[in-house]
Amino acid sequence: MPIQPIRYFGDPVLTTPASPVTTFDKELRNLVADLVETMQDAPGAGLAAPQIGVSLRVFVWDVDDEVGHLINPTLDLSEEMQDGDEGCLSFPSLAYNTPRALRAVAKGFNMHGEPVTVEGTEFLARALQHETDHLNGILFIDKLSDADRKLAMKEIRESEWFGEASNAGVSPRIKISPHSTNGLGF
Ligand code: ZN
Repeated sequence: MPIQPIRYFGDPVLTTPASPVTTFDKELRNLVADLVETMQDAPGAGLAAPQIGVSLRVFVWDVDDEVGHLINPTLDLSEEMQDGDEGCLSFPSLAYNTPRALRAVAKGFNMHGEPVTVEGTEFLARALQHETDHLNGILFIDKLSDADRKLAMKEIRESEWFGEASNAGVSPRIKISPHSTNGLGF
């Protein structure tokens, strides 16, 4: 089962905290492979397991031509912040300025159960924060200013995908404004 349908905002799996991975087996390696394939097909710059309906603490990213994955992550964030547009594959075509820490250090495990540390600034730091949030049931619209969240909710209600469970039935054009997101959502 390589490419999976991506769940849209409104699906409860996206607002449910995901469970830690306890078994580093073939099933987990298949999940990582499915996430990478689904992310690249979208295309996107990151994808978390809940976005394909799997409530486990796993995510992948594809930033600066580097594909990575992380399991059971914890995050250390800089106090210094960055601004920039951010989008999400579970909110097709939305992009809003989303304040994030400028630097992030993520610690977790790879699919073989070995400890790994990933350090990122700017876009990678943004991806690590966006994906870790997904594992806690937090979505990027939760991070917006009140005014932007209001605009985002209006745009969501008027979107063609709202009310659809996933992209299995509809295929809206994913067009995220090409600013700091490089035109891609997470
Ligand atoms: Zn997302």
